[in-house]
Amino acid sequence: MLTQVTIHDYPIDTRHFIGGERVASAETFANFSPIDQSPLGDIHRGGAEEIDRAVAAAKEAFPAWAALGPAGRGDILRRLADLVEQNIELLAQVETADNGALLRSHRRGVMPRVAHNLRFFADFAQHELHHDDFETRGHANQVSWDPSGVAGLITPWNAPLMLATWKIGPALAAGDTVVLKPAEWSPLTASVFADLTQQAGVPAGVFNVVFGLGEEAGAALVAHPGLSRISFTGSVPTAKKIARAAADNLTPVSFELGGKSPLVVLEDADVELAVELAVEQYDNAGQVCLSGTRLLVHESLAEQFAAGFQAKAATLVQGDPRDETTDIGPQIHPDHLSRISGFVERARGDGAQIVMGGERNEDLGGLYYRPTLVMEPAPESEIVKEEVFGPVLAMLTFSTDDQAVEMANDTQFGLAAVVVSGNRDRAASVANRLVAGTVWVNCFFVRDLRAPFGGSKKSGVGREGGQWSFDFYSDVKNTVFAPHGWKE
Ligand code: NAD
Repeated sequence: MLTQVTIHDYPIDTRHFIGGERVASAETFANFSPIDQSPLGDIHRGGAEEIDRAVAAAKEAFPAWAALGPAGRGDILRRLADLVEQNIELLAQVETADNGALLRSHRRGVMPRVAHNLRFFADFAQHELHHDDFETRGHANQVSWDPSGVAGLITPWNAPLMLATWKIGPALAAGDTVVLKPAEWSPLTASVFADLTQQAGVPAGVFNVVFGLGEEAGAALVAHPGLSRISFTGSVPTAKKIARAAADNLTPVSFELGGKSPLVVLEDADVELAVELAVEQYDNAGQVCLSGTRLLVHESLAEQFAAGFQAKAATLVQGDPRDETTDIGPQIHPDHLSRISGFVERARGDGAQIVMGGERNEDLGGLYYRPTLVMEPAPESEIVKEEVFGPVLAMLTFSTDDQAVEMANDTQFGLAAVVVSGNRDRAASVANRLVAGTVWVNCFFVRDLRAPFGGSKKSGVGREGGQWSFDFYSDVKNTVFAPHGWKE
């Protein structure tokens, strides 16, 4: 069965991409656009058989890809990055139709970043990945990062191609081959990307995509004994299942999971800056893992901050994500929208004050949920503890820096934190005591690919980024050369 979805005049093949060829499944699943819930087309629904085939293709392609070395692989990956750059408009249009995130962000930020993910890691493997030899009683220790085999990659729907290439870039640069299982709610850019890999000259089998549902294709992939690595970005409950499956084969895992990050506004903060940073937390309709969804504000600033926040949030334009003027688009899926409104309804039922939003945007219909602010909910309540993954922020107040740190750390998560303060030493002292993979001080979302990225506590296992990515995707080896035994 041949299936195709045409977006921006580009025919997107919705069959799997295995060993450089398109492969069909007997069954398909329907894909809808979050913009207006219109059907986009049918996607092939892979399972154990397709995963087997893809892992076999990746395994077969591995020795030659590994043997190319960082320079040979780098040439191909840089060509791929160039092709992504030449196709930014197409990729942006496809991603927006598929996951409903803003077209202007895809055009200006996300898709250029996709190209950067590929180029950065190709360059890093070639020019930066190095450890000086060191000596032990006359013996020379030499550290190398060797390709490890086949990496199984599983990605979520909120930033599909960006998050996929954040894994694909370093995995391929490290010399691994890849099987990607993209999220079922937003699979399309992975198919366009597969076409680009072919045009760039990525050898058949080096990069494979199997579409399908998490509990079918995803579960089959992570249970496959042929994998050398599993890198997963998604939710905590899914990570637990993957960890169990990986345990049987002792496959190393890297997990980037959810968050309930604090945005801490200290007593000496610039309130205008704090408001600006807080309103940014509605980006991508709140569907951002790093989002600072707990606004912890010093009591002396609470009134001024809340008034400024509501005034600024009121200027956000909600609507079709393809419009240049839109700030907040739709949620990804009706199930996800119901989940979000469930959280808010339960918070309301618990007596929390919803001072903004708290409902679907009836003017727009469909999947649009109004930006919402929940004021002073009980610290132990669900809305403070659980990740909503929608445009819903909770504001709480504190009276001392110590209390702010305690509240900020009172969570099962530890992905990120934002601190707003007018004093660098004070900000550093607070940042130092926060448990989080990334802390932003007086800023948000400044992401350098050289930096370690990941979550503490339930927000993740391990770190990726810069050398940390290569430490994960490679077999790191130490070779010790003795001073004796040489014949010449
Ligand atoms: P999810 O866990 O439901 O799904 C993620 C992926 O896992 C999908 O591709 C899905 O098909 C697959 N999957 C589901 N069940 C599986 C199984 N049993 N075995 C293997 N794969 C399976 O998450 P989601 O709803 O797509 O994404 C939202 C979550 O992702 C949020 O918790 C968010 O915070 C998190 N996230 C984290 C980061 C980060 O970098 N830390 C980035 C983006 C999103």
